[in-house]
Amino acid sequence: MIIGIDLGTTHSAVAVVDAGFPLVLADQNGKRLTPSVVYFPNDHQEPQVGLDAVRMQTVAPARTIYSVKRFMGRRSDDLSDTEKRVDYSISQNPGEAIKILLKDDAFSPEQISAEILKSLKRTAELSMECSIERAVITVPAYFNDAQRQATIEAGRLAGLKVERIINEPTAAALAYGLDRLKDQSKIAVYDLGGGTFDITLLELSEGIFRVISTQGNTCLGGNDIDQAILDHFLNIVRKESSENIAAFKENSLPRLREAAEQAKIALSAETVVSVELPFLTPDYHFKTEFTRDQLEKIASPIVNRTRSHCIRALSDAGLASSDLDQVVMVGGQTKMPLVRSRVSDYFQCADFEETRGDIRLGDSFHESKGPELNTNQNPDEAIALGAAIQGAMLSGQMNQMTLLDVTPLSLGIETFGGLMNVLIPRNSTIPVKAGEVFTTAVANQREMLIHTLQGEREKARDNWSLGRFVIPFEKAPKGVPRVGVQFEIDANGILHVLARDIQTGKEQHLEIRSAIDVDDSKVTEMVESSVEHAMDDFDARRWIETRLKAEDLLKAVKQSLEDCKADIGPDYTAEIQQAVDALNQVLARENSDKNTGDVDALKQAITLLDSNTQKLAEVQMDKITEQLMNQQHQ
Ligand code: ADP
Ligand code: MG
Repeated sequence: MIIGIDLGTTHSAVAVVDAGFPLVLADQNGKRLTPSVVYFPNDHQEPQVGLDAVRMQTVAPARTIYSVKRFMGRRSDDLSDTEKRVDYSISQNPGEAIKILLKDDAFSPEQISAEILKSLKRTAELSMECSIERAVITVPAYFNDAQRQATIEAGRLAGLKVERIINEPTAAALAYGLDRLKDQSKIAVYDLGGGTFDITLLELSEGIFRVISTQGNTCLGGNDIDQAILDHFLNIVRKESSENIAAFKENSLPRLREAAEQAKIALSAETVVSVELPFLTPDYHFKTEFTRDQLEKIASPIVNRTRSHCIRALSDAGLASSDLDQVVMVGGQTKMPLVRSRVSDYFQCADFEETRGDIRLGDSFHESKGPELNTNQNPDEAIALGAAIQGAMLSGQMNQMTLLDVTPLSLGIETFGGLMNVLIPRNSTIPVKAGEVFTTAVANQREMLIHTLQGEREKARDNWSLGRFVIPFEKAPKGVPRVGVQFEIDANGILHVLARDIQTGKEQHLEIRSAIDVDDSKVTEMVESSVEHAMDDFDARRWIETRLKAEDLLKAVKQSLEDCKADIGPDYTAEIQQAVDALNQVLARENSDKNTGDVDALKQAITLLDSNTQKLAEVQMDKITEQLMNQQHQ
């Protein structure tokens, strides 16, 4: 079984597909969301994760680690000052990976995340009553390689084999069942969480979601709304309490902050809440009515900050909102009715009326033909569910849906004569592995260039170069060294190119991460140009292959002639020379721009030279045998 994990900045969740149904699992306290918080007790006891850790936040802020996701795979100088602002200590060495510093310990972000993953793994094992070793974990679409690798490492540290890393918006789309939309459908995934905001546009193409643009803000989310409510509450406190505000903050701020978030959450369903905190300080009871109207006034500027990102995401993709089929809501903060109505406005969604409940809309709204705002799934759980669905597909539990990634273009290496040698053809299902053995074209060659190519054209230079490296070997006659080249695309879409000198076992390795995520338009362009040039390319390949054969033959004949000059008569030498000249003449007529020529004439000339040199070959063989006999007698 492969579990699905949403490793979020503020909350994480684990889901499975059980008897065909995807569901988010509850922990022993019945909670399906685990706060992404880890508390390290002073005495080196087992760290605590989730709600238990949240409770320690006010008591031991320096030992309670939250929002660690923002540090995954990042170095100190990658981070803005706002991002670095946390209540615990982090290392600040430029150029080095961030470390979380406790008084007597230092942890990598991967180690902290691993604690969260361990806890989720345990939750899954308890409710499924089996041991769990494999997981699909989600990451934001903008995560780079280092951040993805760090996530894989966190999984490993937690005792999980990460079968695949998938993008959070893709997971959300899977949970919403949008892989069943018609081909070429375009959707927006609007994800407003606790501390981060992401907007991603996806296109569905042959069952696979491709990211067409992604935008966001790593310091914008529900926490900002909580802070604004807190400020509002503090104003009330200032007016009512004579107590020194600074002293007040120390003791009571965390309780007030919690109340602010609770009020916000309650106001997603209610229109008014009463906030009561008896004995907020020994001689002060906090009590106030807080309405949805007030909340919306406070939250409005924060929610509005997401708008420009939505516009950017559309313009980056070259799309208008009317090109979208759906807008999908993810992240706990999108439960707020204000967020839903604003997003609906940004994208001019058409039929929001049904989903938005008690908020009335202006008339203009009903005329627009925008995308549908889809809020069918629980925005807290959609990502974990999607990860579980992907996991079930990978383990074959849901194989009626084929949603495996495929290679968008062929992958191969450059071989003799500048030709493309395909190892993994276009549209191969990932993961995939393929290999071939190559040899040298020239005697005494000391190394071989492994030039990795992507594309559909016959000639290397018409394809895209993904990277190159050199594999050295002992010098040997032409054709003797044998180099095994293996291409493997793993489940995360990373291409591993491995070249091994079979004789010595020496290896060289190259990782290429751009092999799968190729811009759609570029893929189309490449495929179209290969169709357009199919005839030319075919001719070029035939010509180059025949020419290589001719060149080999010429070299061999030249060598034999030198070796056996004394043993054959001048007439025979002249006869051979004539055939050599004829062959050279055909070669000289090559159209070098197009790498083509008269292949039939070339083949005839090769056959002629071949048959004319039969006798020469015999003479040479006799000579060699004679030499060998002499050596034996000596
Ligand atoms: P992340 O992806 O960053 O881990 P989540 O998707 O779990 O975050 O979202 C957490 C945010 O959602 C918090 O700010 C929380 O207050 C807010 N939130 C959760 N439920 C609600 C609700 N019913 N109404 C409004 N906000 C909510
Ligand atoms: Mg999230």
